[in-house]
Amino acid sequence: MERPESIYADWNPWHGCTKISPGCKFCYVYRQDEMYGSAEASSLCRKTKAFDMPVRKKRDGSYKIPSGKIIFTCFTSDFLLSDADEWRDECWKMMKERSDCYFYFFTKRIDRLEKCLPSDWGEGYDNVIIGCTVENQDRADHRLPIFLSLPIKHRSVIVSPLLESIDISPYLDSRIEEVSVGGESGRFARPCHYEWILDIRQSCIEKNIPFYFHQTGANFVKDGRTYRIARRFQRSQARKAGIDFRIGEGFIPETAEYNAETDEDFQLTIDGI
Ligand code: SF4
Repeated sequence: MERPESIYADWNPWHGCTKISPGCKFCYVYRQDEMYGSAEASSLCRKTKAFDMPVRKKRDGSYKIPSGKIIFTCFTSDFLLSDADEWRDECWKMMKERSDCYFYFFTKRIDRLEKCLPSDWGEGYDNVIIGCTVENQDRADHRLPIFLSLPIKHRSVIVSPLLESIDISPYLDSRIEEVSVGGESGRFARPCHYEWILDIRQSCIEKNIPFYFHQTGANFVKDGRTYRIARRFQRSQARKAGIDFRIGEGFIPETAEYNAETDEDFQLTIDGI
């Protein structure tokens, strides 16, 4: 499902990443590079031509990325990757200059955030949303306490790819603005069980935290049966489960938009796959 042009923009200041945890095993960056026959190794982090995109201007002096956009940042790498340390300060400056836009990045390296922050970060930039990604209990127990201890204005937890039953309830409080959960995509995707998703949802409901089921993944297990779900239906099938909670009420923007979307072409529900 495409993101609507009117609200979103992408900004990938660098491309390529090194794998650091089980969730990286079938990283989509590696899969995409393979699909497009990239000549460079996916593990080689390099600056892209779009590096300064947020501050590029048109001939009339206005920014190429209009005011009010939600800019998905560094989705073909990890914004906190050490290989990119020398470039990041410039990115923070661009984010600050574009305080009229929101920047949203996900990271598996939240333990590096503190040493990567700019000197004027304070309690966080108002226009930066950080998603801490976890995929299993071990990584949740490592990353989420760090995530909660850091000065960040807007936090989301991205539980994806969900690889096992996880209890994140000890880390759920009002500092978390949303929990977004999904299974793994791709040919070799590991299975994601519906009850794991429902358990996390229940924890969110008990703490009154918005919960979003963003995609089923390619191998979805429900009631002991595995369903192979094509990429193009993984989001719409999650929508049809109808299990989101308080999405659209809070600040985190992506989910509100996706929640409003429907896929009329595909009528099956999770119950009827
Ligand atoms: S951290 Fe993200 S981008 Fe980097 S290898 Fe892992 S899954 Fe891929």
